[in-house]
Amino acid sequence: MSGNRTFTMIKPDAVESGYIGAILEKITSAGFTIKAMKLTQMTYRDAATFYEVHKERPFFEELVTFMTRGPIVAAILEKDNAVEDFRTLIGATNPENAAEGTIRKLFAKSVGENAVHGSDSDENAEIESRFHFSGREIF
Ligand code: UDP
Ligand code: MG
Repeated sequence: MSGNRTFTMIKPDAVESGYIGAILEKITSAGFTIKAMKLTQMTYRDAATFYEVHKERPFFEELVTFMTRGPIVAAILEKDNAVEDFRTLIGATNPENAAEGTIRKLFAKSVGENAVHGSDSDENAEIESRFHFSGREIF
């Protein structure tokens, strides 16, 4: 996978609130093409592995509990400069600090329950995509 792809999740808070359609509309309107997508639910082990980089952080248990409490939408997105442009589209981790019009400003509840994930590098986009999708699920 080249540098024009990123990985996202619509997190349980946003799925519970009925925001899947509105968030996908923001994503596709911003020029991203969906290359893979599914509704799924992570196990404790899945979420602990996915967020392993944060395992020493004080919010780790809360994060894993939150991310496993209901379904998520996992997706691979394509656009020029995908990783950076998607991070701009979603806004800051804490919605209080997110720019107007960003997905987190519009849909996030708190720094923990912040509606969406976006990969932070091309390397992590590849790792996270492979974590959630097999080759034949990716277009
Ligand atoms: N998180 C949290 N408390 C914090 C920081 C982060 O609960 O103080 C959660 C939040 O859901 C965030 C995720 O942990 O999206 C991963 O944190 P990271 O710093 O990687 O933020 P992101 O890359 O998602 O903006
Ligand atoms: Mg991150």
